[in-house]
Amino acid sequence: MQMKGSGTRFDPVCDMNVTERDVTYKSDYKGIAYYFCSYECMKKFQDNPEKYLSFHEKEAKV
Ligand SMILES: [Zn+2]
Repeated sequence: MQMKGSGTRFDPVCDMNVTERDVTYKSDYKGIAYYFCSYECMKKFQDNPEKYLSFHEKEAKV
């Protein structure tokens, strides 16, 4: 759940909140921009984006 305009995004890899304004690492996947706290998180996501996205989809349905 993300609030538009808040400037806070969710790092799907490590579950941290990242501030959009401060973020250095981001990646587009299927037209959606994802933000990361670190280069390592971005790399992990790019290696296997479905793993991290499916985790959160499953979580949201519970
Ligand atoms: Zn992270």
